[in-house]
Amino acid sequence: MDITESDILFFQRAIRLACEAERHNNLPIGAVISFEGKIVTEGKNAIWFPTFNPNRHAEIEAFRQVPEHLWEYSRRMTLYTTLEPCLMCTGAILLHQVGRVLYGSADHYGGASQVIGHMPTYFEEEVSKIEWLGPAYPEECDKLFKRVMVLVEKLALMPNKRMKPTLLSRILVRVFSILKRIESSLVTLRNPQGGLCASRYPASVPLCIKISLIANVRTAEP
Ligand SMILES: [Zn+2]
Repeated sequence: MDITESDILFFQRAIRLACEAERHNNLPIGAVISFEGKIVTEGKNAIWFPTFNPNRHAEIEAFRQVPEHLWEYSRRMTLYTTLEPCLMCTGAILLHQVGRVLYGSADHYGGASQVIGHMPTYFEEEVSKIEWLGPAYPEECDKLFKRVMVLVEKLALMPNKRMKPTLLSRILVRVFSILKRIESSLVTLRNPQGGLCASRYPASVPLCIKISLIANVRTAEP
């Protein structure tokens, strides 16, 4: 699949956003929306912290910040996302009538590409009007997807997924966030060329999530 140099630059920004989300103990997924060759808005996954909110996907976060006066040009916008959009985000993409979508890594677990061709008539009409490309940058984004799956599988082991972070868990998350930043700085010092971010926290992220989940209190909701 051919992508341009500017596509790569936008993907790299989305990857940095994904890494920021990971540092804040959310899933490493990022998205940007470009218009006229410039980024107009960006978003990163925020489903777990600061509060549990499963619809705060990177794409939705980006859509929420598009300046209202630009929506009339939505067909000229491109959405870049590090991971294949899910059903919810695909619906949002079609409703917002974005002209072009590039996703970095294929999501065989929750990606919506496999339902294209089996959607209600309105959505099928809309999807035929957009350019839907992916996986467009697997060489970098597949690493992020692997880390997403590790975190999702860890959460699946928890007996009750409906949790709210307590004060203690927030403090622990903050402490581990600082520790990870220190670790990141040390890694960067040792390796000034750095790269994008892949594999900087192979051990500390699962540990951090584990501790923060242990510290959570399950709600009494049925
Ligand atoms: Zn989504």
